[in-house]
Amino acid sequence: MGGAIQTPVYLDYQATTPLDERVLAAMMPYLTAKFGNPHSSTHRFGWEAEAALDVARGQVASLIGAAADEIYFTSGATESNNLVLKGVMDVWGKKRPELVTVATEHKCVLEAAAACARAGYDVTVLPVGPDGLVDLDQVAEAVSERTALVSVMAVNNEIGVIQPLREIGAIAKRHGALFHTDAAQGFGKIVLDVDDLSLDFMSISAHKIYGPKGVGALYKRAGRQTALTPQMSGGGQEHGLRSGTQAPALVAGLGAAAALCAQGIGQEAGHIEALMARLKARLFADLPGLLLNGSESARWVGNLNISFPGLDGDLLLASIRSLAVSSGAACASAMTGPSYVLAAIGRTETETKAALRIGIGRFTTDAELDFAADEIVGAVRKVGGLRA
Ligand SMILES: *Cc1c(COP(=O)(O)O)cnc(C)c1O
Repeated sequence: MGGAIQTPVYLDYQATTPLDERVLAAMMPYLTAKFGNPHSSTHRFGWEAEAALDVARGQVASLIGAAADEIYFTSGATESNNLVLKGVMDVWGKKRPELVTVATEHKCVLEAAAACARAGYDVTVLPVGPDGLVDLDQVAEAVSERTALVSVMAVNNEIGVIQPLREIGAIAKRHGALFHTDAAQGFGKIVLDVDDLSLDFMSISAHKIYGPKGVGALYKRAGRQTALTPQMSGGGQEHGLRSGTQAPALVAGLGAAAALCAQGIGQEAGHIEALMARLKARLFADLPGLLLNGSESARWVGNLNISFPGLDGDLLLASIRSLAVSSGAACASAMTGPSYVLAAIGRTETETKAALRIGIGRFTTDAELDFAADEIVGAVRKVGGLRA
């Protein structure tokens, strides 16, 4: 390190992560010589491809304390979330018409929940506190014998907060409700054990853990009580749950990415935490009045979401073009307009517009963050400083 810094510096690890070259190496054979269809059961080409799926199923499962045959490959967390919410309500909604979720979930969960509401089910969307966390008393009040499914994310994609899944899972189980988590931001980064957390379903995405885009998985606990209706009709792949020819190269990438995370899950988090602590200390020392969005303690260490009171967010963003970060106006992928997550924790519209999400990860360096701190502090001073 210490050499010249490549700009723009990539600080948007919650949007997506760079592909780890070891993951690419694991994918290459299935993009070239091993091109078979895993469904072809009569020859070696098919067997090789199927073997790749089997290996990856084990790699994903072992990271969350699941069995390999409880992992189903999908196109990503968006698809897994849709499959769980719509699929569970379709099977169980006659007996138990309620779905409970949270206001700060990813749009794909909220939109799938809205589709369930349009289909006639009762959807409860719980608020969060100023720290971004759900209130357990409110969860306990909302969940009943009428609840089919409780869906709460592990780590928030905008503000990084970690929801108290163990406690929520215990509440769901007390009432016989199924429990799902969107773990796109948590899987591979923090320890998530499906038994420890009483989880019946977990949604997983490869591209948030240094794997390829366009692939993910659904953990579905074995047994009849987790039955759900497939959302794709076809050839019956993935035990009938997700028809369509699997993508062995992408799946091998997901598996390899999961295996790399498993190798150093605590170690990597510790490294990222140290990097982030330094950036945070510098920004908060040099910019009095800076606001941290989301809980100080219950958060993924690779996320820093901050509001700059009194500043014009667009102007700020325009003066830090050397940094690839997200703004409070555009944290949620294809969405425009102020962040509904920041609104949910009580930020004003101006605080929301003048917010930055900084996401760091495996390949971030101290030198990059020193540069980022200089750029941000310089830009804030240039555009007039923070409102005291
Ligand atoms: C990225 C993300 C998704 C969507 O995952 P895809 O695999 O891109 O469909 C869903 N939920 C959260 C929390 C995410 O961060």
